[in-house]
Amino acid sequence: MMVKYFYKLIIVLTSFIVTQSLMAESFDPSKPIVKRIDEGIYQYFHQFYNSLIIIGSEGVIVTDPSGAERASVMREEIRKLTNKPVIKVIYSHDHYDHTRGGQIFQKEGAEFIAHKKAVELLKRDPYQQVVLPNKTYTDKLRITSGNKVVVLIYMGPNDGDAMSVIYLPKEKILFAVDFHLPRYVNEPYRLTAHNYGGIYQTMKRIRKELSFETVISGHTLESSPDLFEEDFRFVEALYNAVLKGLKSGKSTKELKQSVKLPDFKHWQGYEKNLPGHVERMAYTIWHGN
Ligand SMILES: [Zn+2]
Repeated sequence: MMVKYFYKLIIVLTSFIVTQSLMAESFDPSKPIVKRIDEGIYQYFHQFYNSLIIIGSEGVIVTDPSGAERASVMREEIRKLTNKPVIKVIYSHDHYDHTRGGQIFQKEGAEFIAHKKAVELLKRDPYQQVVLPNKTYTDKLRITSGNKVVVLIYMGPNDGDAMSVIYLPKEKILFAVDFHLPRYVNEPYRLTAHNYGGIYQTMKRIRKELSFETVISGHTLESSPDLFEEDFRFVEALYNAVLKGLKSGKSTKELKQSVKLPDFKHWQGYEKNLPGHVERMAYTIWHGN
């Protein structure tokens, strides 16, 4: 998402999170939350962005700096966990709000890793605040630090064109950034980058090919395999309802009025934002992305 929408997002996500009762009353988005997931593996949640911190014997692997200030606080939090250097930074995808701010890790010699398609897009950052990747891949990449293993899998365009599905096979952890946002019908202005057909295909592939017990999203403190499954059911129900309507000869304008998905009416933004998602899904179906 665009940086200028960051504060709007904070307000939206705050109400979402409070609504879902997922956090303690004392929650403060400016303070980092470091949550242990497994031996040497942590979820770092700060300013409504998630990163993984993976501590292996050769050094630390992190994902998504998400801004210089956030990266600097994350570096301090890592120092509380280990004296090892940060040796690898993984970009989940190309969007600048996730990729800017990695200079602090570049200074200590970290390697920057992303999907091949991200490089050209990252070069276009008008503020030039992204450290460009020096390692890329096409289909699949295995990254290690000692016995810690992270696998990046390219499953095609979904939210943007250069998304890596990030998977820790030993610990069965799935890091699903931006193509998964639990129980939230997000703001329509964000849907231009939302390739709904690609998201549907990516989620189908993940369900078929990966076994996971922990799910971390890009922007919420809590997710889970059940919440991921609920998200998939939403995308599938939306696809089926819009496809059926288009096949019956209805216009996108009519479908924005008539398509309802009552199973998901408890989701944040359902009433206000569903018509925008119907329109985006209709575009995906008749246009092809
Ligand atoms: Zn995002």
